[in-house]
Amino acid sequence: MINEVKNDKKFMIYLKHHSILIIALLFYSLSLYSQSEKEPTLKGKKIIYVFGGWEGHFPKQSVNVIVPKLRAAGADVKVFNNLRVYTNKKIMDNADLIIQIWTMGKISEKQFEGLQSAIMSGTGFSGWHGGMGDAFRDNLKYQFMVGGQFIFHPGGKIDYGINIIDKKDPITKDISDFSLKNTEQYYMLVDPNTKVLAVSKFVKDRYEKPGKKEIKVTGSVMPVVWKKNYGKGRVFYSSIGHFMTDFDVPEVLKIQMRGFAWASEGKYHKKEDLINPFIKIK
Ligand SMILES: [Zn+2]
Repeated sequence: MINEVKNDKKFMIYLKHHSILIIALLFYSLSLYSQSEKEPTLKGKKIIYVFGGWEGHFPKQSVNVIVPKLRAAGADVKVFNNLRVYTNKKIMDNADLIIQIWTMGKISEKQFEGLQSAIMSGTGFSGWHGGMGDAFRDNLKYQFMVGGQFIFHPGGKIDYGINIIDKKDPITKDISDFSLKNTEQYYMLVDPNTKVLAVSKFVKDRYEKPGKKEIKVTGSVMPVVWKKNYGKGRVFYSSIGHFMTDFDVPEVLKIQMRGFAWASEGKYHKKEDLINPFIKIK
């Protein structure tokens, strides 16, 4: 009994002496929770930025446009102009996110395995347009990892609209429908089990040009922005961005940067259920 009173007293003195520390720790953990759980952030994240492939998608220019924005958001970015980095286990294991802008081209089996194993263990994977959604056409496992593959862009450079279909997701929250001018509207083959955040509709007058034969896709609604899991890793894709000037549209840049931040946090949170079948059955 006496011992218990003594212990209580000791504990009270301990609390008194350490109250500032305890309160500070409480606030710190609360701030960490609110930052990372609710609003994904690029702050302090280790990013590998890989660029190359077909020049028509401005891979080099993409580094000048996007990398400063990632660094301004607090990310630690390392830039590579080759796919060999995917075989460097030490660099890959250490990364929170891989951003890839590499249209077409070929990936070796070893390079793919390095990329795949990093993502399976929780490293995120992200990119846009053909740099991610039209890379390594002969690698089916890669296409499954992305969740879609470019097929064609009806009408070439056209004007089209984007509809946000998920207004609650942190990536597309508070973003209204918007339009794009004189750029490519991707028609893709898409995994029907991803979480689609934005779509676009093919409108006849926009893509059918006089005298030009086009495969008819009028009325088709195409996923444009989606997220999915791959192992423990988070995968984020947007099909916008043929020209780097597409990122001058504030909504495009905002969605892409938020997507990067979300994808960079796979190692720090429990996996979300993102299997969202397009066709639902009981
Ligand atoms: Zn393109």
